[in-house]
Amino acid sequence: MAKDLGPACKLCRRESEKLFLKGERCFSPKCAFERRGFAPGQHGRSTGGRRGGKGGGSGRESDYSRQLRAKQKARRIYGVFERQFRRYYETAQRRRGITGLVLLQTLESRLDNVVFRMGFASSRGHARLLVTHGHFMVNGRRTDIPSMVLGAGDVVAVRDGSREGTYFKELPSFAETRNILPWLSRDLKNLSGSVIRLPERAEIDGNMNEQLIVEYYSR
Ligand code: SF4
Repeated sequence: MAKDLGPACKLCRRESEKLFLKGERCFSPKCAFERRGFAPGQHGRSTGGRRGGKGGGSGRESDYSRQLRAKQKARRIYGVFERQFRRYYETAQRRRGITGLVLLQTLESRLDNVVFRMGFASSRGHARLLVTHGHFMVNGRRTDIPSMVLGAGDVVAVRDGSREGTYFKELPSFAETRNILPWLSRDLKNLSGSVIRLPERAEIDGNMNEQLIVEYYSR
């Protein structure tokens, strides 16, 4: 995950919901949100975080606050810096199609997300780490850029030199417990997979409000 985003569990508590940023831990009783499901900080328990927008207190959330939270939540889920996230939005706006959907499709097509979705890592943050350490190839070429955006036909594979490591030797038994989405294919024997097409909206986490994100940037 991008460095400036801070400890992952605090982000879930800030957003008042589980963002599933820490792999298996998120499904265990150790999940910080399960234990302390209120916003971090001195006033987290009493105010429910920043709900209510600047100044809090009213209990009603302003439009701006809802738009901001929707944007921050998506940014945190995918581990993307603000500047890059805005760039994704601006690119999506220029492309044909529904801006919000194109934005989500771009985020889903990032290499770190694809590695995670293929079940080769326990979380997006973990996938990002594996990619930056050079364990993956895209179309036969080694890459260490987690933000690389893939398209239909791109093939992702664990690098030959990495296959002998304990993690990758045990990976097939871990990965087979993870479902794969229809827009991706996976070959566990060869530790590889490919992008078949862009994901449809129903194949992307429903709990994200891309319309509010578009409204945030259109202000
Ligand atoms: Fe969020 Fe996972 Fe931490 Fe729970 S364990 S608070 S879901 S990152």
